[in-house]
Amino acid sequence: MKQIKLSIEEVCKVFNGSQGTVEALQSTSFKVSPGEFVTILGPSGCGKSTILRVVAGLVNPSSGEVLMDGQKIIGPGPDRGMVFQSYTLFPWLTVQENIEFGLNLSGVPAKQKKDTARQYLQLIGLTGFENNYPVNLSGGMKQRVAIARALANNPEVLLMDEPFGALDAQTRTIMQELLLKVWEATKKTILFVTHDVEEAIFLGDNIYIMTARPGKIKEVISVDIPRPRSYEVKELPEFLAIKHRVLQLIREESIKAAEVSDILGLPVVAGH
Ligand code: ADP
Repeated sequence: MKQIKLSIEEVCKVFNGSQGTVEALQSTSFKVSPGEFVTILGPSGCGKSTILRVVAGLVNPSSGEVLMDGQKIIGPGPDRGMVFQSYTLFPWLTVQENIEFGLNLSGVPAKQKKDTARQYLQLIGLTGFENNYPVNLSGGMKQRVAIARALANNPEVLLMDEPFGALDAQTRTIMQELLLKVWEATKKTILFVTHDVEEAIFLGDNIYIMTARPGKIKEVISVDIPRPRSYEVKELPEFLAIKHRVLQLIREESIKAAEVSDILGLPVVAGH
């Protein structure tokens, strides 16, 4: 029987804000295997971050539930680490101290904290930068530290919300390759939200494509491209075929979200 790490079961989320009620997520269900790399793609505002925040335990679903190893998630926990798009390092702490931060909370002895931080610094290729402050690091380096900080707690699941969204194209490609190396070395289960079609294909075992708001899963595409992958796979015919299909699906949703099908003279896609 297929092993399940995460089970997202009919999760709905309605926000009641000052602007009124927003249905962010319609009934959304999917299962993630241990060690799977899932990418989540969809138009802006379709509920991608909401899914991650529900899995992180930062947001309660309006209905439905998320199970991890069969246990209902009821709040945040060290078994799930998060990396955001915006740089979330503490500017007053060094690289080493930033990575050790989460371990301070869990009461790990000083020597062990130092060794763990060193181990992850090495994994992300920042040995020698331990005493630098974030202000002296490039955007890519900051995100590498953020990844190391999330990993230092040894979470089973890594939740990544457009972590490379603010980086230039060149740095982004390098970060994608680095993340795959880290994933292969650590065997974490990863849920990775992105806007970028190539990024979703390059990284993922499966791509979950979401509908425009209220979001739900529109289609799941398996990425049958062998691993380990390097940036050259982006030129392969099978990569380009997946890209073509994904772009079509995303375009349908973006047109729906922007409400421009009449202007573009396109049929409205029914049933989603
Ligand atoms: P995405 O990550 O796909 O861009 P989000 O999950 O951030 O989308 O948001 C989905 C929808 O829910 C958006 O319309 C957003 O404005 C709304 N939303 C998200 N968080 C809140 C909140 N805390 N209060 C009110 N509305 C929210």
